Amino acid sequence: MRKSHGPAFKKAVIELARCPACRGRAVVTGVFHDLPCNSCNASGWVAAGTGETLDLAELVTQLNMKLQAALRKIEQMKNAPAPGPEAQYQTNNRRGAGGTNYTGD
Ligand SMILES: [Zn+2]
Repeated sequence: MRKSHGPAFKKAVIELARCPACRGRAVVTGVFHDLPCNSCNASGWVAAGTGETLDLAELVTQLNMKLQAALRKIEQMKNAPAPGPEAQYQTNNRRGAGGTNYTGD
């Protein structure tokens, strides 16, 4: 009688798309000032594909996952171009004339 039916431990990632109503700005221009966009709960994001508004609790989690992924990507980009002095030297050599030939010493 043991079935694995419990709650999902891994939160499903919902693909997000820019809110078409406010174009991702999270606000819409009102008569006097910007108003929070109703179509996306003022987040600027809706579910991709369905265009569905996510409720706030779901939104916070999804935005966090998106932010984490973005931060990971930034970290990777920061680390990627500096694999070590030797590799850097070789890269510069291959690139040849024209580029900044900074050898570090
Ligand atoms: Zn919106």
